[in-house]
Amino acid sequence: MIQIDEKRIHSTINERKPRSVALDGPDGLSKKIQNCAQKLSEEYQIPVYVIGDTSWGSCDLNLHAAETLGVDILFNIGHTIAMEKFGDKVVMIDAFDDVDFSEIASKCAIELKKKNFNKISLVTNSQYLPSVQKVKAIFESHGYEVVIGRGKGHLNDAQVFGCEFYPAYDSKNDVDAYIFLGQSIFHSASIAIVTQKPTFMMDPYFSEYSEINDIAQKLEKKAILSVLKAQDAKTIGIIIGLKEGQFAKIKALEIKKMLEDQGKRIMLIAMTEITDERLLSYQDVDAFVQVACPRIGTDNHFHKPVLSVPQAISLIKILKGEPQEGFLQIKHWL
Ligand code: SF4
Repeated sequence: MIQIDEKRIHSTINERKPRSVALDGPDGLSKKIQNCAQKLSEEYQIPVYVIGDTSWGSCDLNLHAAETLGVDILFNIGHTIAMEKFGDKVVMIDAFDDVDFSEIASKCAIELKKKNFNKISLVTNSQYLPSVQKVKAIFESHGYEVVIGRGKGHLNDAQVFGCEFYPAYDSKNDVDAYIFLGQSIFHSASIAIVTQKPTFMMDPYFSEYSEINDIAQKLEKKAILSVLKAQDAKTIGIIIGLKEGQFAKIKALEIKKMLEDQGKRIMLIAMTEITDERLLSYQDVDAFVQVACPRIGTDNHFHKPVLSVPQAISLIKILKGEPQEGFLQIKHWL
């Protein structure tokens, strides 16, 4: 079960005595965040706002909502990163899942050994970070050498985001396979794409594990196909995402210049939520490049190609007649 670190919320409120606070976090935690807000509001008798907009990651904190509401503290729940605070307003609150991996880890260790996997790396997303050492000990007891990749920037050791993979990427030449702790195809498929190694997703709830490379291959093919389709675009819309942690105007202008040099007409667009529905009204635009979250185009359905930054760089290379293979085998898809 997921446990929000409410102790830290209380100690922060007691110490800073805010006049009002706001809470936000991923959709999966919405119910728990609502309960927490109600308890805080009753206990401290101050306005407590639940921010109802999406918060996909630590790149998507809804800071302008907190500023518009005039709250003193914004608690962002469930996006554990290597930093505890962002500026004066945002306090990052852990939400860890205490589910037990013992059964599935032992099963996975025994069965993968039969397939000659001897050196593995464990990776996960924020909610299972506390389980990593315990799972490491289980694999080691079955004779594995276990690598825990070093964190970097916002990432803790063994942690990956959907667009940032340092702990996995840096060990890719040293291990036979990756084991992802948790139920996220979103994260585990990207590890398979980036490392091109066998990658297994270990699900503690259903006590089963599965190889994720076929799904990853489909995702990668879709990304390549979008680049190829965008080649013939006469007009390309470059979308600057307005979420504070995804704002990349300089990058957008650099890509604009590179595409114009290749004869493309460019329309600059700024928006917060990039959806197929929002893009349908841009009828004169043949393809889009968005410099916000690199997973928007690969993990959602769009009628026209919507490229991320690595895909856009690949497109530019194709237009210049340069080799462009392996554009997703990088540490950070930005
Ligand atoms: S994958 Fe997208 S939502 Fe997740 S951290 Fe990266 S930019 Fe943010």
